[in-house]
Amino acid sequence: MKNFEIPAYYKSSFISTIKELRKVSDPRKKDFTPTLLDFGSVQFLIARHFGFCYGVENAIEKAYTAVEENPKKNIYLLSQMIHNPIVNDDLENKGVRFIMDTSGNQIIDWRELTRDDIIIIPAFGTTLEIAEKIKSVGLTTEEYNTTCPFVEKVWKVSNKLGENNFTIVIHGKHNHEETRATFSHSNAGGPSLIIKDLKEAQFLEQVILGKESEEEFYRVFKNRYSKNSDIISRLDKIGVVNQTTMLATETQEISDFLKNTMIKKYGVDNYKQHFADTRDTLCYATNDNQQATIGLLKEKADLAIVVGGYNSSNTSHIAELCEERLPTYFINSANAIENKTTLNHFDFHNKKNLIKENYLPVNKKITRIILTSGASCPDTIVDEVLDKILEFYPDTTSKEDILAGLN
Ligand code: SF4
Repeated sequence: MKNFEIPAYYKSSFISTIKELRKVSDPRKKDFTPTLLDFGSVQFLIARHFGFCYGVENAIEKAYTAVEENPKKNIYLLSQMIHNPIVNDDLENKGVRFIMDTSGNQIIDWRELTRDDIIIIPAFGTTLEIAEKIKSVGLTTEEYNTTCPFVEKVWKVSNKLGENNFTIVIHGKHNHEETRATFSHSNAGGPSLIIKDLKEAQFLEQVILGKESEEEFYRVFKNRYSKNSDIISRLDKIGVVNQTTMLATETQEISDFLKNTMIKKYGVDNYKQHFADTRDTLCYATNDNQQATIGLLKEKADLAIVVGGYNSSNTSHIAELCEERLPTYFINSANAIENKTTLNHFDFHNKKNLIKENYLPVNKKITRIILTSGASCPDTIVDEVLDKILEFYPDTTSKEDILAGLN
């Protein structure tokens, strides 16, 4: 995979060495067992795959290049570059300004932009409507377009479905920038609908089988369906794509469920004309991170710490997998750890900051912690979290000796 130039302060030599050692011993990434770092009274289980993905590194490289190449120009990002506050803050400190917030609310009026400005499209991509808006200002989007190729792949699959007269069912979070962009692109090719979970797939089945009314469909999927076609009459042919960072098991469950819906309606011999058997459109990083998390959870541990931006979809899914098995704390930096007993963490289900007392086990000879992060989290942050926790345990093995032991 391509190597990108990203600022050194997002890299950790400690974490990079561990990743490199695993890569050398398992170049085809077949082994998703974690790496055990045994510091003595505290041990860390580090995921086989975590941290910056291809799309994030590509976006970071292009954004910092834009800053470097255009010192005298106004540089705008459509919205957050990636879902990590540290990276976004750093770009803002370098003078980059965000045009919209993550929900698509305008922060800077389009009229402020001129044709001499620079615009960066984030890794999530953007909608056709916004791309049109940018063009109308006289700006081009090509030079610093950091749309991830794995997101573009979803758009291609959607277009193909549209061309073959299938209605595109997008499994995703309708407020997420990527899903808004995917909906816009797929809507241009064919009727499209966003569903968020299995419960909504079950409701959709009722509509397809004629057991729920059109009114209910429009109420439940308000602002999440194509308005430029009679979508209800087009539900006789459907195909599923997904936001690249969804939970793999959930996406598979939804796809299997809707396939079964079409079998119920049209029979096992005919369903293929009504259900496009697309493979999921999750990206490699989502798959690898989730598999690595499953690998982590096969080991015994006292707690899990998942590091990443609180609006990061892929990170919340890693936390979701972990919390099924053990106490899990989703934090965005080492600053969330106040001391040995108090930690601030994020409840992504209810979008609330929480405080946890006594998050580390007491009176245990050896504490074992699962430590991992999402695809938009710099390794330096994970390293800082590790260092902070090590401070609470005296007489631990040095990091140099740990690395020497792994070699
Ligand atoms: S998580 Fe996947 S789709 Fe998103 S930027 Fe990374 S590689 Fe691309």
